[in-house]
Amino acid sequence: KNRIDILGTQFDNFTEDQFHQHLDYDLDVNKNRFIVTANPEIVLAAREDKKFLKIINSADYVVPDGIGIIKGANSLGTPLPERITGFDTLKYLINSANKKHLKVYLLGAKPEVISATAKKIETDYPNVDLVGYHDGYFKEDQPIIDEIAEKKPNIVLVALGFPKQEYFIDKYRKNADAIWIGVGGSFDVFSG
Ligand code: UDP
Repeated sequence: KNRIDILGTQFDNFTEDQFHQHLDYDLDVNKNRFIVTANPEIVLAAREDKKFLKIINSADYVVPDGIGIIKGANSLGTPLPERITGFDTLKYLINSANKKHLKVYLLGAKPEVISATAKKIETDYPNVDLVGYHDGYFKEDQPIIDEIAEKKPNIVLVALGFPKQEYFIDKYRKNADAIWIGVGGSFDVFSG
């Protein structure tokens, strides 16, 4: 794999277009994938937490979320082509799901935020099959995982903030062959 190391985090060395081509293929053949959109905070946290770093680097895609990573890569002499944000990736995945009539599951954010996010998807992306959603303030994982396993989404968007969302995805991704991505506070922005 062609990756660029920034303080231990291994970034994919590709453009956003190339990334999207990979995602299109993954969706078409139903691959189990884990995307990390790593910003400087994530890179610094991973440098301090070996377990977190291992999870990040085990992801199928690690993309540079923000100009800080691009600047860092340049100053280390190992440039990355361009930034690829979590929010843009979220929008790309929802658009793709709409075009391809795919199943999506949403997890995370406050109850009013997740229901507003669900409503926006149902209104603006009518071909998305929104198979379920849950807010991010639950006590037990298992009922949620059971629901995801049963509904078989193609895409699972997890907005629990880092590092919680990455730990969650790493632990449970085997329960559904979907594209799993941690999207941080993106639902708050997307629904607003
Ligand atoms: N969140 C959640 N459950 C938690 C903690 C956080 O659902 O136990 C949500 C929170 O409501 C927000 C997002 O996770 O929507 C975290 O956003 P933030 O911007 O703090 O995270 P980052 O983007 O920095 O990862």
